[in-house]
Amino acid sequence: MGATPDRASAAAKILAQPSDYKVCEGCGSIVLKKALLCPNCHAYRFDEAVSRVQQQAEVLGSREAASVTKDDYN
Ligand SMILES: [Zn+2]
Repeated sequence: MGATPDRASAAAKILAQPSDYKVCEGCGSIVLKKALLCPNCHAYRFDEAVSRVQQQAEVLGSREAASVTKDDYN
């Protein structure tokens, strides 16, 4: 339902600790590294590259809260 401001804080949390996460090859979700299957699409292939996780987190975080990152730089 509606906007989820948590998305931006979730992205910030991921960006603070990108090595704890990986990106699902099936749907692009960011999941905890210890997860065996993607909770969204049940794929079992992941990209564990930190740079990929960071890139994906930025995309997810900017979708609904671009202004949050802007404020961070003030
Ligand atoms: Zn998935």
